[in-house]
Amino acid sequence: MTDIHEGGCLCRAVRFKTRGKLRELIYCHCSQCRKQTGLYYAATNVLDSHMDVQGAGEITWYRSSSTARRGFCRHCGSALFWKGDDLDYTSILAGTFDGPTGLEPGYHIFCADKGDFYDIRDDLPRFAESR
Ligand SMILES: [Zn+2]
Ligand SMILES: [Zn+2]
Repeated sequence: MTDIHEGGCLCRAVRFKTRGKLRELIYCHCSQCRKQTGLYYAATNVLDSHMDVQGAGEITWYRSSSTARRGFCRHCGSALFWKGDDLDYTSILAGTFDGPTGLEPGYHIFCADKGDFYDIRDDLPRFAESR
């Protein structure tokens, strides 16, 4: 049985569908993720070959570092994707999926850069930087 998940942005200009099991969630607490989302990043990922995007032309890709871009809806501003250069997969923000997602918690990264206005109160593994 194929594991299908669908999601998209707030205004529905961008919709996506994934096939196959989704990776456990990684919570990224780096300053870039905080600035983009207002809190921290909770993302799964999927191979590009296992994802179809409708409305791809409505996505603005912002080059957030020398090695990655971040995709968001140019109409409603929803943060959707993180894409490392030369990677064959795309990270997808957990909150963009239509529920129920079945997504499983994984671990925290870049905890050293975490905002000072919240605490991490779970027992998941934590990494100061990347894993
Ligand atoms: Zn939108
Ligand atoms: Zn981050």
